[in-house]
Amino acid sequence: MGDGALDYEFAVIGKGLFGSAAARHLSAAADRVVLIGPDEPADRTAHDGVYASHYDQGRLTRRIASNRLWAEMTARTFAAISMLETATGATILRPVGCLTVKNPAVAPRHTRETDAEGDVDLTEYEIGDESWRDIFPEFDFPAGCSIVYEGAPAGVLDPRALVASQLEVARSQGATVITDFVTRAGEDAAAVTLRLASGREVRCGRVLVAVGSFVNHFPLLPRRLGISVETETFMLGTVSDRDGRRLATIPTVQYSIDDPDIADIYMTPPLVYPDGRWKVKMGCNTSADRHPESLEEIQAWVRSGDTDALAAAMQTAMQTMLPHVDFVEYETSPCIITMTANDHPIIDQTSDRTFVAVAGNGMGAKSSDGWGGLAAQSMLDEPWPTWIDRESLAAR
Ligand SMILES: Cc1cc2nc3c(=O)[nH]c(=O)nc-3n(C[C@H](O)[C@H](O)[C@H](O)COP(=O)(O)OP(=O)(O)OC[C@H]3O[C@@H](n4cnc5c(N)ncnc54)[C@H](O)[C@@H]3O)c2cc1C
Repeated sequence: MGDGALDYEFAVIGKGLFGSAAARHLSAAADRVVLIGPDEPADRTAHDGVYASHYDQGRLTRRIASNRLWAEMTARTFAAISMLETATGATILRPVGCLTVKNPAVAPRHTRETDAEGDVDLTEYEIGDESWRDIFPEFDFPAGCSIVYEGAPAGVLDPRALVASQLEVARSQGATVITDFVTRAGEDAAAVTLRLASGREVRCGRVLVAVGSFVNHFPLLPRRLGISVETETFMLGTVSDRDGRRLATIPTVQYSIDDPDIADIYMTPPLVYPDGRWKVKMGCNTSADRHPESLEEIQAWVRSGDTDALAAAMQTAMQTMLPHVDFVEYETSPCIITMTANDHPIIDQTSDRTFVAVAGNGMGAKSSDGWGGLAAQSMLDEPWPTWIDRESLAAR
């Protein structure tokens, strides 16, 4: 490369968890890196643009994963978070640990997660061993569940703080950040030309498309990807400041609840939200989850989707898991996730100058620095570790 007519050597489209990580990795190794994406909308309900899956205060993270690739990418992300916290002074990770609670009535639906990188602090409570109740008195789960506690650094990360820190370090390494929206990308033998919503054009040598759920809705790649977008609903339960501080260090929870309408619960300890209030966040799969296909359907869901369809069941679950907490108020919110058939993201080169990093499968935050770093390695023509099965991450 090194074409003088280029504005940038490397461009990343999408200022989300994957894109901000990739931009930081690229700018550590190369000059002339640009990251292009819009900021978070001030008012989701009046927004008619794109939306990110990370607009929130809490994402669960832990080292145990269903396979080595996810475990390795999460280990890389823990290391990156530690570096970023030191470099920026931000608090990104609250290492409160994670409880994985399996109800045997539904546990067959879940694969046992066995892979982790390095030593992991695990305590297992087999079915019938109820001694966890003495250690975690705030929680209640039905008798007969098996429970695994994973200690620090498992816990909860702040995705907004993670993106902000990635951007801060990328900028300090010389990256340019443009707050704009890319409406199309066109590749020829000499360059990729990006057309921005502002009318500006950016010419770059190589581009990474890291636009999450919107990847099939703008002409950025040569062809559509085989992904599906899924609606997600989460509930925030407001607690008093006193309860918020008191419960701030309880572990996160993953719980295979036995319920006709909701499944696969995850829950954070109380976190301080932008309105200054402490809120417990809980999400789950629900029988009302949908797969919006058009851009308009995704946008309508994020703006005004019916997130109250299963609010009663979610509220009951939250209160049942934390029986001693007086919740002041409950609210529900929409979000979207991007899924693939094999539960792996797509990290690949799709043409001479175009690369892609999308599809966190509802768990991409905890491993985002790993995935963004792998994408950056590809763009820099650096080899990946030989044990990684590239086919499992290939565009499909
Ligand atoms: C409710 C919910 C709970 C979750 N819980 C967890 C969890 O506990 N643990 C976990 O690890 N993960 C969790 N996830 C998943 C995690 O948040 C995602 O996997 C992660 O955000 C994916 O990162 P991304 O960069 O691919 O996409 P995003 O974070 O969505 O970022 C994509 C970015 O691209 C931008 N963009 C889109 N189109 C364009 C364009 N044309 N031009 C420029 N920019 C564009 C968007 O504005 C956005 O900023 C959860 C997700 C949801 C919705």
